[in-house]
Amino acid sequence: MVHKTKDIHHLPPDDTPSGWVDPSELSTIGSRAHHDRVTLFDWTVVGAGFTGLAAARRLAELNPNDTVALIDAKPVGWGASGRNSGFIIDLPHKFDLDSDDADRLSAIMRLNSQAITDLEGHVKATGIECGWSPVGKLQGAVRERGTGKMRTFVKALEKIGQPYTKLDRAQVAQIIGTDYYAGAIHTPGCVLMNPVRLTRGLARSLPKNVTLFDGCPVVRFERESRGFGLTLRSRGTTLEISTSSVLMCTNAFTPEFGLLKNRIVPVITFASMTRPLSDSEMEAYGGQLDWGLTPADPGGTTLRMTQDRRLLVRNQYDYAGHYGVQDRSLEGVRQKHRGAFDKRYPQLKKVPFDSTWGGVCGLSRNHVSYFGEIESDVWNSSCHNGVGVARGTISGRLLAEAASGQSSPMLQDMFAVSNTPSLNPPDPFLGLGVRARLKLAAWESKEEI
Ligand SMILES: Cc1cc2nc3c(=O)[nH]c(=O)nc-3n(C[C@H](O)[C@H](O)[C@H](O)COP(=O)(O)OP(=O)(O)OC[C@H]3O[C@@H](n4cnc5c(N)ncnc54)[C@H](O)[C@@H]3O)c2cc1C
Repeated sequence: MVHKTKDIHHLPPDDTPSGWVDPSELSTIGSRAHHDRVTLFDWTVVGAGFTGLAAARRLAELNPNDTVALIDAKPVGWGASGRNSGFIIDLPHKFDLDSDDADRLSAIMRLNSQAITDLEGHVKATGIECGWSPVGKLQGAVRERGTGKMRTFVKALEKIGQPYTKLDRAQVAQIIGTDYYAGAIHTPGCVLMNPVRLTRGLARSLPKNVTLFDGCPVVRFERESRGFGLTLRSRGTTLEISTSSVLMCTNAFTPEFGLLKNRIVPVITFASMTRPLSDSEMEAYGGQLDWGLTPADPGGTTLRMTQDRRLLVRNQYDYAGHYGVQDRSLEGVRQKHRGAFDKRYPQLKKVPFDSTWGGVCGLSRNHVSYFGEIESDVWNSSCHNGVGVARGTISGRLLAEAASGQSSPMLQDMFAVSNTPSLNPPDPFLGLGVRARLKLAAWESKEEI
């Protein structure tokens, strides 16, 4: 049960923002909570990442006469949803590929594809400028470990009848400007975008019956005689919200609300991005614009070249018990990113990174995502295991549909591919165990990083 009153001890941190936009663009979008009074909402969605944005939109569409509050501790685009590498992945990914079950793989694919269709509809209808680019993606392998994982990926694609193209070293180099990769698989369904621009565009075009409170952390959550009370903080003042139902779209932070306690592993991963390459650097680079490569080995490095000539590198994981890292740790991260970058692009050694940042994801030890009514009138979807742009978007929509009493084949798919994350050992054992596991994984994947 939700504790009668739950004070939220750890709020999303004030950490270095991502390099996707100038930080000055990351101001709050929604209403400011300046008053000390109770506001009633029929529905409250906590968390305005991809999951919460989709949930609030769908609740408002299905219940046009109801009021919906959408709350985030930070300005929209600040959290993981604005810190990712910007791949909206249609296919089963990472740990999902461990499954041999074609029905499960196909269900994941249907759900992710629907998320892309939904997002594309909003982007086109409302003119969101986020560099929406349906170019697909490369799944790249450096050495034997990577090529082994690539074979597993191909098997999964064949099992679910999805198209792919095999590229050899020279063909990959022609696209990405380096012959570092032994080969890659190109699949056509993934979309690339700028995640800050997309999340903020979605937030700005929410239906009229959604009130957005971003920059307003929920500091207390309590079950009342009828419904729930939430206390929000904003610039030293408080706002009380009273609501009948809560959709908790807080991913890694969910245990702070007393839900899925000891079942989510908060893990941080990091990215660095260069400034735009000059004309002469573009010539030295020799590849194309606008592509994305994810590592065949989940422990490897993600690479992207943006439409505006910036190269992005993502790798490394750390346990993030309090959902962030000290800024000083980012220097070590940046050096490792530099090493990965220079190995791939020795001709661009002098191009500096403009930004380095981390973002927290919720993982589960048994690699499952949670979806459903976790307590009476409290709904949750979390643990998207690091691929939450598509999975979060479709989970948010379906969470709203389930909470509104709907049923559909898509909801059946979602329930079928979700489960309960397994219990974690208590801290400090969890932190020690996860760090040891991550170190081993980094060692095993060293040639792919
Ligand atoms: C560097 C990096 C690269 C990644 N690359 C990709 C990628 O290319 N593709 C992909 O699919 N996934 C990627 N991911 C993972 C992806 O970003 C996440 O899976 C996704 O953001 C999850 O979305 P979400 O809405 O469920 O959760 P989140 O985006 O984490 O949103 C949860 C929100 O809850 C809010 N919140 C928490 N506590 C409170 C509180 N007390 N009060 C109010 N609000 C609160 C937070 O501020 C946050 O905005 C990447 C992640 C990182 C860090």
